[in-house]
Amino acid sequence: TTFNTLNLSRPVLKGLSSLGFTKPSPIQSATIPIALLGKDIVAGAVTGSGKTAAFMIPIIERLLYKPAKVASTRVVILTPTRELAIQISDVAKKIGHFVNGLTFGLAVGGLNLRQQEQILKSRPDIVIATPGRFIDHVRNSASFSVDRVEILVLDEADRMLEEGFQDELSEIMTLLPTRRQNLLFSATMNSKIKQLVSLSLKKPVRIMI
Ligand code: AMP
Repeated sequence: TTFNTLNLSRPVLKGLSSLGFTKPSPIQSATIPIALLGKDIVAGAVTGSGKTAAFMIPIIERLLYKPAKVASTRVVILTPTRELAIQISDVAKKIGHFVNGLTFGLAVGGLNLRQQEQILKSRPDIVIATPGRFIDHVRNSASFSVDRVEILVLDEADRMLEEGFQDELSEIMTLLPTRRQNLLFSATMNSKIKQLVSLSLKKPVRIMI
């Protein structure tokens, strides 16, 4: 298969070809069609499998189907470290490069708080964050709102739990709209992950590659 058979829009196909991606990886072939339907997903996927594009491609497509009438943050991607957040942001910007008006924000520790706050105030479409810093922003910034979030990604969920983000994740779930799509990626599936899945996902499709 090629990306052309996955029913993707022209700007996304252009972004993928600018990255030199021609064929979807197995996790991408399995995840993209299901995520495009708006379903929740639990995917067993390690770094190197192409999981970043596996969630970013359908996310950008879904934002394209239904353009926002007002600026609002519609996607939140949580990941365990600042480095991973920056990597995800770089991939996202490249895949979305030919999509008009798509905006991104980072909320991670170790970068200037005020500067991040300014960006989040403008309600970027996609916010990529570490859990602790994300909560700080939601609590402390009156003008950043998560009321219109449609999609939540939990990237490297097992590592987020290992880093001790359990409480932050539970709190974030209560802050986001209950009606949303959830995409969870984890290299391992232990009982803590299963608990997180039952807490936050609705009838997820399980994808093990
Ligand atoms: P990830 O698992 O998301 O960290 O991706 C691992 C590496 O695979 C990254 O360097 C990506 O740029 C690359 N990659 C992801 N999807 C594809 C694809 N469909 N074709 C070629 N390279 C890819």
